[in-house]
Amino acid sequence: MELLRPSSLDEVDGGLPIHGGTEVVPLLRDGILTTDRLVDIRGVIPRGVDGRVIGAGTTLAELERDLHVPAALREACRLAASPQLRNMSSVGGNLLQSTRCWYWRLNYPCRLHGGDRCHAREGEHREHAIFANDFCASAHPSDVAAALLALNARVRTARRELPLAELYRLPDDADRAVTTLEPGELILELEVPQPQASTYLKAMDRNRFTFALVGVAAARSGEETRLALSAVAPIPWLLGSPDDLDRATPLPGTAYKVDLARPLIRRALDAVA
Ligand SMILES: Cc1cc2nc3c(=O)[nH]c(=O)nc-3n(C[C@H](O)[C@H](O)[C@H](O)COP(=O)(O)OP(=O)(O)OC[C@H]3O[C@@H](n4cnc5c(N)ncnc54)[C@H](O)[C@@H]3O)c2cc1C
Ligand code: SF4
Repeated sequence: MELLRPSSLDEVDGGLPIHGGTEVVPLLRDGILTTDRLVDIRGVIPRGVDGRVIGAGTTLAELERDLHVPAALREACRLAASPQLRNMSSVGGNLLQSTRCWYWRLNYPCRLHGGDRCHAREGEHREHAIFANDFCASAHPSDVAAALLALNARVRTARRELPLAELYRLPDDADRAVTTLEPGELILELEVPQPQASTYLKAMDRNRFTFALVGVAAARSGEETRLALSAVAPIPWLLGSPDDLDRATPLPGTAYKVDLARPLIRRALDAVA
């Protein structure tokens, strides 16, 4: 395998992008990702916070410390992973992390891997989805994506600009991808509006270094409050209103997530009121 270190976007021509490598390296090691060409994109992806604009190469550790960053995003970063991982992890890479579903990580031939079964629906699925879980029941693990969705962030790639919500899609028979990025399309920057108040709350099995069972982000701008959830659907999930929780379709093992989400949503709304 060759490793390229381009210093300008013009030099990037195919290959598998790697930034902090906290996701790419384990997936390469386990044979879930394969490539002949690894492209270290740290030299070409903007890094740092400039007003509303956040470089996709900014680490979670940098974001959690920056008081110009809205509280929901700072909190989501602070509650993610461990300090060591947050020092390595870029926000762009975080948005594109893969599911933690163990069937997928153990390379079962499940639907997300192109097969015709969701092993989790019939098997172990305590950490899985309560919305949109018909085809694939995985739960999107990114705290950061839920915070950015509530904040109504926009994404700038090397080819286009789009609302964060449009970065994600539900997988189906025709296309198993959970993002709308085209092959080779790099995320360069995020534009994050400054709300009047925002927060991120996370229910976990233990207080540190673990993925969300449910994460709730709320952001209020004037009369409008946006609510977004992590770990409840195969993609970060925007709730139109708290009542949308009544339309959840939990699996037998994930019904508890509805009960977890309800008080978290109430607390998040109180916090931004
Ligand atoms: C043990 C562990 C615990 C974790 N806990 C949490 C948690 O609690 N909450 C949470 O939200 N996350 C958690 N994470 C996920 C972690 O935050 C991500 O792995 C990290 O943010 C990915 O960033 P990276 O720079 O290391 O990405 P990489 O591993 O370098 O890349 C990840 C993916 O993004 C692609 N990529 C990277 N940058 C770009 C770009 N700019 N444009 C296009 N494609 C790009 C890569 O090709 C790859 O597909 C955890 C991870 C681990 C390993
Ligand atoms: S939840 Fe999704 S990733 Fe997990 S086994 Fe089912 S199809 Fe595969």
